[in-house]
Order: sequence, then C-alpha cells, then structure tokens
Amino acid sequence: MAIDKYEIVIGCEIHTQLLTKTKAFCACENRYGGMPNTRVCPVCLGLPGAMPRISKGYVELGAVAGHALNCNIARFTKFDRKHYFYPDLTKGYQITQYDIPLCTDGHVDLPMHKLPKEQQFGGEKCRPKNFVGDDCIIENGKYRRVRVERIHLEEDVGKSLHLQGTHSYIDYNRSGTPLIEIVTKPDMTSPEEAALFMETVQEILRYVKVTNGNLEEGNMRCDANINLNVWEDGKLYHTPISEIKNLNSFQKIKDACSYEAQRQLKEFQEDRQPFNPGFKVTMGWDDDKKCTVVQRTKNSFVDYRFVVEPDIKPFSVSEELISRALEKVGELPEAKRTRLKKEYGLSDFDVETLTQTRDLAVWFEEAAKNAKDVKKVANWILAELLAVLNEKKETINDVTITPAHITELVNAIADKKISNAQGKTVFAKMLETNKMPSVIIKEEGMETVSDAGAIESIVDKVIADNPKAVSDYKGGKTNVVGWLMGQVMKASGGKVNPKAATELVAKKLASM
Ligand SMILES: [Zn+2]
Repeated sequence: MAIDKYEIVIGCEIHTQLLTKTKAFCACENRYGGMPNTRVCPVCLGLPGAMPRISKGYVELGAVAGHALNCNIARFTKFDRKHYFYPDLTKGYQITQYDIPLCTDGHVDLPMHKLPKEQQFGGEKCRPKNFVGDDCIIENGKYRRVRVERIHLEEDVGKSLHLQGTHSYIDYNRSGTPLIEIVTKPDMTSPEEAALFMETVQEILRYVKVTNGNLEEGNMRCDANINLNVWEDGKLYHTPISEIKNLNSFQKIKDACSYEAQRQLKEFQEDRQPFNPGFKVTMGWDDDKKCTVVQRTKNSFVDYRFVVEPDIKPFSVSEELISRALEKVGELPEAKRTRLKKEYGLSDFDVETLTQTRDLAVWFEEAAKNAKDVKKVANWILAELLAVLNEKKETINDVTITPAHITELVNAIADKKISNAQGKTVFAKMLETNKMPSVIIKEEGMETVSDAGAIESIVDKVIADNPKAVSDYKGGKTNVVGWLMGQVMKASGGKVNPKAATELVAKKLASM
C-alpha cells in the first residue's frame, strides 16, 4: 500500500466577544478582568427566578459582524438553551442560537499574497469534492474564498482558576458576556490558511468596531476542525475529524493544525480509523509539549438537549436595525488598501501601515485632503508621528494635533516657506503646544524671505559692503559668488530663498 497524496481540510469556529456596554442578558458591566465575581447578578449566575433580557446593541453588533462577513441577516430569530455540565457554567445551560442563527451564508476572502510564496498554492488546490458554487480562488489567485456557514449569538461562560494548592476557583465575571460564534465551511487547505483566516477576521471585526479582538484577553479564540483526504493506491479515504479547542494565537493555530495533520496521517497508516460524520474527537493543544491532547473521544458524544429559551420570546429583526448595521460597516480594510494605492499612488508598505486601524486611515485621508503633496503627508505620519506614538505607547486616537496640522506643515514645505530641517522643528513644537504650523513659523521667525524686493535690498547691501570681492570677481575669480552668497545668508539670518538669492548675486555682479 502506498499513499499517493493527501490534502488537509480545515474548518474554523471563532468565538468573539462583542463590545456592548452590558452583558448579553443583564445589566452587569461587560468588561475584562477585575476582582473575581464582582460583576455578577442573579441573571448571569442563573439563579432561580432571574429573567434574562436582551441587552441594547447586542443584536445590532451581531448584524454588523454579519454584514462585514457578507452574510444574510435573518428577519426573524430566537435564542435556545444548550445544556451541558461544566464547573464554569452555573446554570447548567448556555443561551445560544441553534436552528435560526442571526447571520448565514457569508464569506471571507483570504489575502493569499500575505502568505509566503510556497504556501499560496494557486488555483489547483480548491474546494473538497461535491462542492457546487463559486470558485474559491478569485481574482487570479489573489484571494481564497472561505465560506461562512453561520454566525450566531451566544453568551460566554465563567472561568476556572487553578491556583496553587488543592482547590480550584471559579470567576463568573465573564459569565454572560455577549459572544458571536462564526462557523465556516471546511474550506481551508493548510494550517497557514487557518491562521490567516483568523487574522483576517480579527482585522475586519476590529475595523467595524464589533470587538477588541484581543487574543491575550480571550476576546477571540478559535476551534479548528481538521481532517485529511488521503489517496492510497488510487482510492480516496477521509480520516476522522478532530476539533482542537481554544486556540488563542495565530501561532497556536498553525502549530496545532500542523501537528494534528501529521498525527492523523500516522494514525491512518497504522490503524485506518474510519471517517464517521456524526462524531468527532475533541482535543486541546499543549503549548509546552507542542502536541494535541485528547479531551473527549468520539464515544462520549454529548447530547446538548437544545430547547427554545423559554424566557426570551422569538423576535423580529427590524429592517431599520439591519440597514443601520450595514451603515456601520463602511469600507473594509482590503478595499481601503486597494483604493488608497490607486488613489494616492502609495507603496504597498505605506498603505499596509496606514490602514492598520480604521481610525489611522481616516486620519491620514483627512490630512491628505488639502495637501499639496500626499506622499509627504504619508511620510510625516509614518516616519515622524507614528514613531512618537510608538514611543509613548499611544494610538492615533490619543493624538491632540489635528490632521490639518500635518496638511499645513507639508504645504509650508512644499511652498518653500520653510526648509525640511525647519519642518522637523515645527513638527516637534506643534506636538508640544498644539499650535498650527503657520503660527509657529511666524512666532519663531522662520519664514524664509521670498519677496524679490526684500532679497534685492539685502544683496545690494552685501555687495556694497564688500568691494574687494567685487573687484576679485572682475579679475576672474568667479568663486566669490559662493562666498558672497554666504554673506547674504548671514545677513538675512538664513532666511532668504537660496536659489533666488544666488541668481540675483550672479546677475548683479555680471552687470557691474
Ligand atoms: Zn449579570
């Protein structure tokens, strides 16, 4: 028996916390951290008699995410209870959406050019068999389309704390936090694509301000479903699906999927576990030992006993909410990058950096609007402003100067009112004082003299004061022009326009 080839098949489930003010079904504050069990109430603890109520903005943020990932938004939906026993789930069930999710049938286009060349694969590797629909490689192999099956609303559970000693503790501050769960079709064909999927989703959802997407704080985590298509002696086999839970970094997704693919290949060669569509193995990733660990085998299949949540009536989603959510989506990162490159002729690198956050991109475009040199605007923001922000660990939202400050600074240099070097002084001063560049230039007396009459009177005076230089010039020493220019610069305090002054000195001497 010989294995001819194998393909990796990956689907993802991403859980993301939403940026609502309160938890999903109660008035407790929705915030990370703090003293354990300080943000809890009868509702999020599931005490008897407590009545859940859908929080303001919860459904709308879900719809914003749905639009951003190109989904259809349901006009009518409901919540369900999913029953299971786990220490961090006090009430014994979780409120989620079962058969009528808020969003369905979307897609995310992975920017394949972000992967190293050898991982981009191109057009030949595509969807698994029996797929009918759009091609997954679009725009000449630039993007791979990953279908989003559904996005549903769901509450988060508490958190077990295993402190030193013999006891475990549970913090319910996170219990009842609003989540969305994004479920994809098994459209990814490598661990790198799975990581890129999560990265792309993180960027999009941050752009539309649905989530902080902070992986370290558990704002966003990914479960990866993975198995292999193996061709052996011309016959196709599928290995059993494993679900690797709670991957909370791009590296862990890559590591866990790579390891699991190799493990499944080895298992296939050794004992040929058959594929069984109804069951899957639940696994965890041990980051210290760099291996996947079985948490639950397929034999202990869990029955969640879904029922309609009796305390929340099924509800209509208004057209008004749906269109308001669509308005909040605006231009998404990839579209913005393509437009900025085309509209301003900036480099890939400049555009990547300027679009890191939507707020920075908006700030840049505001500054570029009335600027005489857009490339220079980009340079001042990228090289100077971001350097200062990085140093202070601040973002563009913390900046006190306005985009108009940069526009004015760039225009002053373009008009040769000040030199580039003087620009740096003005820049530092404006960050310090918030004064407009024009004000600083005036106050500091930096403005160069471009007025022809003013330059001429200085040149005349310098020539009159230096008769020896003039006679040297007449004797053939043309290099005195440079020396006289030095005198002109000195006399003007370095403020005359050097080009205009040099021409004038040469012209005056020639006519004497
Ligand atoms: Zn609560």
